[in-house]
Amino acid sequence: MCDGEDRRGNAAYSRRGVVRGAVLVAGGTLLGSAAILGAASGASAAATPGVLTREDWDARSPRKKAQVLTEPPDHIVIHHTATANTSDFSRSRALSLSRGIQNWHMDNNGWNDTGQQLTISRGGYVMEGRNTSLEAIAEGKHVVGAHVANHNSHTLGIENEGSYGSASPPEEQLAALVATVAWLCAVYELDPEQAIVGHRDFNATACPGDELYALLPSLRTEVCARMAREGQRRAQSAPVAEENRPAFPDVPDTERSAPYFHGPALGEEEDHR
Ligand SMILES: [Zn+2]
Repeated sequence: MCDGEDRRGNAAYSRRGVVRGAVLVAGGTLLGSAAILGAASGASAAATPGVLTREDWDARSPRKKAQVLTEPPDHIVIHHTATANTSDFSRSRALSLSRGIQNWHMDNNGWNDTGQQLTISRGGYVMEGRNTSLEAIAEGKHVVGAHVANHNSHTLGIENEGSYGSASPPEEQLAALVATVAWLCAVYELDPEQAIVGHRDFNATACPGDELYALLPSLRTEVCARMAREGQRRAQSAPVAEENRPAFPDVPDTERSAPYFHGPALGEEEDHR
C-alpha cells in the first residue's frame, strides 16, 4: 500500500530499515522538484510516458526472440549503467546509449539482445530495451530480461544512465523515472512501496550506487503521489512468494568496475540470455 501498510500477506517483508529511515527526508527534498515537473506534464489519466522504441534507436535484431510470460513482474528493479555522468542530455546521446548497451550485452556478454527492459538517459529520454518489452507491458505481460541474477523471471529492470555511487541523477532523469515507474505500477497493479527495489536488494552489488539507492524511498513516495494525482487505483500487490522477495545481501566492499557492468545479471541456471 502507498501508506506503507500491507494487508495482503506480505507482513514479513521488510527492507533495509537503517538506510531507508535515514534518507527519507533528504531524498524527498531532492525528488520534490522532479515531482513538480511530472505534475506539469502528466495530466493525462493514461499516464503512459513517451518511450522511444527500438526502431527509434536503431536496435540490432535479437539473436533470439525474448521469452514472454503471462504472469506480470512483481518488482521493478532500479539500476545504473555505470557509464559516465555525461552533460549531454540530448536525444541523440540517449539513442547512442541504447546502442552501446545492446552492443556490449550482445558482443561482450554474449546475450541474445540487450538485457534490461527499459533505459532512461540522463536527459530523461525513456527507451525500450529488450525486444517485445513495450508490447508485453501494454498487455500486462512480462518479457524475461537479463539484469538481476536468479530473479529475471519475475522482475523488470530499468537502467538509468550514469554512475551514482557518489553523484545524484539529474532532475530530468528522476522526473522520467517517476513517470515510468508510475506507469508500470499502474499497468501491472503493483504497490510502489513494495515493488520498487534496487539491484543490490537482490544481488551482492553496489548497483544502483549509494546515491540513487538512497533516493528509492522518495521515489516510492513520488510514484504514489503521481498515481494519486492521475486517478490511478492504488494497487495492493499480490502476495509475493518467499523465493521472489529481496534477500538484501551485503553490499560488497570491492566490485569489478567497467562501463555497462552493474552487478550480477544472470544466474547459472537462467538460460534466457
Ligand atoms: Zn544493476
